[in-house]
Amino acid sequence: MSDEFLPYARPDLGDEEVGAVCDVLRSAWITSGPRVVEFEKAFARYVEAEHAVAVSSCTAGFHITLHALGIGSGDEVITPSLTWPAAVNMIHLAGARPVFADIDPATFELDPASVEDCVTPATRAVIPVHFGGQPVDLDRLRGLCETRNITLIEDAAHAVGARHRDRPIGSGKNPALFSFHAVKNLTTGEGGMVTTGSAELAERLRGLRFHGVDHDAWRRHGSSEPGGYDIESPGWKCNLTDVQAAIGLVQLERLESFIERRTLLAGCYDRRLSRIAGIERPEVSHYPTRHAWHLYTVLLDEESVSVPRDQFRARLRERNIGTGFHYQAVHLTRFYRERYPVEEGRLRHTESVTRRIVSLPLYPRMEEGDVERVARAIEQVLREEA
Ligand SMILES: *Cc1c(COP(=O)(O)O)cnc(C)c1O
Repeated sequence: MSDEFLPYARPDLGDEEVGAVCDVLRSAWITSGPRVVEFEKAFARYVEAEHAVAVSSCTAGFHITLHALGIGSGDEVITPSLTWPAAVNMIHLAGARPVFADIDPATFELDPASVEDCVTPATRAVIPVHFGGQPVDLDRLRGLCETRNITLIEDAAHAVGARHRDRPIGSGKNPALFSFHAVKNLTTGEGGMVTTGSAELAERLRGLRFHGVDHDAWRRHGSSEPGGYDIESPGWKCNLTDVQAAIGLVQLERLESFIERRTLLAGCYDRRLSRIAGIERPEVSHYPTRHAWHLYTVLLDEESVSVPRDQFRARLRERNIGTGFHYQAVHLTRFYRERYPVEEGRLRHTESVTRRIVSLPLYPRMEEGDVERVARAIEQVLREEA
């Protein structure tokens, strides 16, 4: 077993991705063009979505989706605090108020009962996160939103390839947002996708991602009509490029094998870590899902483990093992603490988890021997403290 640095995440990019990028560069059409159209179609087919709109990042997707839905000043949007700040920042910057709901302490998923407690007449949307690649309780959240006329927007940044019951994440009528950032299960370096069952929303997003003009350059290219265009509503500039889409098309072909490999490694962690006292393993949900295993997160049991989380991570790092922190609870960061204070105890599960959580290395090219190496290092670190 080598003791080379083991990062917590690493993209799996091979000769096929390299070849696909070279083909695009040689074609001389390097911005949004035929590859983006092809990637959107292939992605929509894979997640069984009616429409898929490629964007430059999942965050940009949130920006234009909230705008397209008219969410802004005076509106409230319910979301977890145990998340990457992307959606929360976009809610705030849209002029709306982020309202944090608590999570289930065993699965880290948004707790529908807590969401229900947060609903007010100003609630316009709920944005759950499929944490770590495990789908949230969509039945309950959909029911809750439909009866109150609230829009459900899924943060599916971790969840490409995941399923809730027998349906792929992204196949619903409501918008779902995916990320292709370098650490995600499918990567294009940077990139994102919005899926939706609404043709009208998809069309609006296509405008908003490209200046608000009614035809992007590729749709005009080669057209027999001279290049006129119009603006119905001003937009931003957050289109995906053909270089990125070419990588995405190859990654999409390989995604099932990535997830199979992640699932196998997660199983190895489960079996091996069950023998280590003080390490709590992630629980699976009570409803049927296919977990995409984007993250393998454990909790340190504060009763039996005296080493604080940050020191635990530092000691693993000394043994050449990288870990991740998913996440610093957003409501405890300086800006949100001051701007949107939360009453003591209202997010108690989120606060307990954010203090104790660690993401262990998990990526397709890892070997089962690497899991053993991580487990042994954890045993040493825990023994050292005594
Ligand atoms: C990565 C991530 C995002 C943002 O994705 P980008 O493509 O980097 O904008 C949003 N939400 C969650 C939960 C994420 O992990």
